[in-house]
Amino acid sequence: MELALRGRISIFFDNSDKLHFVKDPLILIEENRITDIDSYSKLKKDIVGHDIIGDKNQLLIPGLVNCHTHLAMTLFRGLADDLPLDVWLKEHIWPLEDKLKAEDVFRGCKLGVIESILAGVTTANSMYWYPSSEAKAMEEIGFRGLVAAPVITGITKLEDAIEIVNKHHNTAEEKIRVTLSLHSPYTVTITDFEQSYNYLKEYNKNCDEKSKLLIHTHLTESENEMRESKQLNTKYGLEFPAVRTPTELLNHIGVLNDNLIAAHCIHLNENDIKLIDSKNVRVSLNPLSNAKLGNYMPPIPEMISKVKNVGIGTDGPASNNTLDLFDTVRFLALYYKGYLHEPTIIKAKEVFKLATIGGSRALNWEGIGTLEAESLADITTVNLKQPHLTPKINDDNVLNHFAYSMKGKDVENVIIDGKLIMEKGKISNVDIEKEIDLVEEITHRLLQ
Ligand SMILES: [Zn+2]
Repeated sequence: MELALRGRISIFFDNSDKLHFVKDPLILIEENRITDIDSYSKLKKDIVGHDIIGDKNQLLIPGLVNCHTHLAMTLFRGLADDLPLDVWLKEHIWPLEDKLKAEDVFRGCKLGVIESILAGVTTANSMYWYPSSEAKAMEEIGFRGLVAAPVITGITKLEDAIEIVNKHHNTAEEKIRVTLSLHSPYTVTITDFEQSYNYLKEYNKNCDEKSKLLIHTHLTESENEMRESKQLNTKYGLEFPAVRTPTELLNHIGVLNDNLIAAHCIHLNENDIKLIDSKNVRVSLNPLSNAKLGNYMPPIPEMISKVKNVGIGTDGPASNNTLDLFDTVRFLALYYKGYLHEPTIIKAKEVFKLATIGGSRALNWEGIGTLEAESLADITTVNLKQPHLTPKINDDNVLNHFAYSMKGKDVENVIIDGKLIMEKGKISNVDIEKEIDLVEEITHRLLQ
């Protein structure tokens, strides 16, 4: 039997940025694609042979897209909070990561995938160690995601990253992709950036869109980045170019283009924003993590209006501290209004766009983030019949609930690649309590 979804209302952006509201919607799915979406009265003749999921209380939206995270860091949630980024990383996270084994990352990532699905996220771009473990966790549950082939100067080499690309890119029925993860300009030298990019260019030469590789990096997350980049390159005897910002540095190396997904993008001047837009760089904004780590806030209103390929991410669960993208949505919709004394800035439909079709563009993953016919069937349903989602007077009213009152806990059903992964809050083939216990055990062992 194929699947069909019913609901009270459906909201989505199509690929031409048109916002659609469909009342009493019916979505028809065949294999892993949406074949049609319209009102139930118009499509009900085609419903024969479909199993119907949902009811008249559901909001049907595209599965949410988390553009930057470190899924397996569920292992470290809440262990070292209220600290600056460099102290948090160098004194707390990195020493624990030194003790990690492949199985630990598998368990941590699996719990991260579970947490994501429970909150309606169907795709995540994760950067972490032991990418084969992350890929295995995603595949086991049926999640869509990108795992990292890490290159960090002095720690991991391009040859090893290429092995990961060959092993996992476009696998698991095309639900798993790999990014070449050059952690940041302050941990990866100019030479390593250049060599990795040369490999990527060769790789992408004859690829179709879905087979193309992206470089995934952290860009201008902290103020110290420029100084540390210079120190790193000097240590390896490399001449540092006459540039003023990390964005200019990446441009100088030649990697600032549409093959790059850059996370954070906080410390940008006007010229940097122009560069990012004109070079079609893909961006993940992670404002909740930036706020928590006291890294200043990214210029999000400008980024939304001036940059084309922008999505949002939670960042890792140790720096947010949840994988619930609704938290990020709400924070993003509220923060700049207060900070800039401007209540009309960043509207509900703009954050909805960032969490859906924006994510598709940021990750160069065609077919996700929308419910348009022929798109991939990644769908989240939200139970609207709840006190904090009342009333539902008109379309805009429901869209406002998405931005300002909805939570991950309101998600009821999740479909990924045409498969029903979560029904009425229950993820198939997953013992959540057992997974929680396993992660508790691992974290206890790592701390000993
Ligand atoms: Zn990150």
